[in-house]
Amino acid sequence: APSRLPEPRIAASVAPSTNSHLQIIDVTKNFGSQAVLKGVNLSVAKGGTTAIVGPSGSGKTTLLRLIAGFEHPATGSIALNDTKVAGDGVWLPAHKRHVGYVAQDGALFPHLTVGQNVAFGLDSAKLPGGRRGVAGRITELLEMVSLDPAMAKRRPHQLSGGQQQRVALARALAREPELMLLDEPFSALDAGLRVATRRAVANVLNKAGVTTILVTHDQAEALSFADQVAVMRGGRLAQIGNPFVVYTRPADRATAEFLGDAV
Ligand code: ADP
Repeated sequence: APSRLPEPRIAASVAPSTNSHLQIIDVTKNFGSQAVLKGVNLSVAKGGTTAIVGPSGSGKTTLLRLIAGFEHPATGSIALNDTKVAGDGVWLPAHKRHVGYVAQDGALFPHLTVGQNVAFGLDSAKLPGGRRGVAGRITELLEMVSLDPAMAKRRPHQLSGGQQQRVALARALAREPELMLLDEPFSALDAGLRVATRRAVANVLNKAGVTTILVTHDQAEALSFADQVAVMRGGRLAQIGNPFVVYTRPADRATAEFLGDAV
């Protein structure tokens, strides 16, 4: 039998730096007795855009919530910028992850004005001009998502669904996240507005070099938005690849049928 060589020892401090922004290794998650994630592996490059597609109930939102730090994995680990943030006894809370999250319904605070909603993500202590700088920054953020800054004084219910989604995005952008998680952010919009909003959002995120993960039901959205598509099914990633390969060469029949249905 071959003699056993000792395992090479590599100190953490000399681990090679990679271009990976997010690395998910063998992550599982249960709710009660239900296994919702059954061993997910996913790597996202810095500045990259990944679309997650898959049937309802396949675990897409749960995966985003784990990345954001709203849930703990049962097993496996999650690393951001080569630093473990969850798993193996490690836990970095959500507010320290530099991650933005826009939920499906936008979830604005109904009792606050649009401006106050956006300012919720702002730290006035860090702005030049302190509190007075906040108004200028709100204007800047609303312009970024193509909203009239005069809307700052309105309440969310006075805005259309598309405008509310843009406010939710401005609020998330206010925190200057390095990684943006978007959970079907455009699904409530009608077709015309969806395309325009998607373009505005893609522009803002690209310009700022923000790494983005987008959950979507919309094939055109996945194709136009992402450089990597991950197909989720039954708590697993059935296929990961560039959009063209995933759509022209689905890994298996179920994936082909799902993508076909999504047209
Ligand atoms: P998707 O985003 O792909 O529709 P989800 O991640 O929302 O899937 O849900 C995956 C499964 O986990 C579903 O069966 C859902 O009912 C269940 N689930 C999600 N969140 C919870 C929770 N907080 N408690 C119990 N079950 C949950």
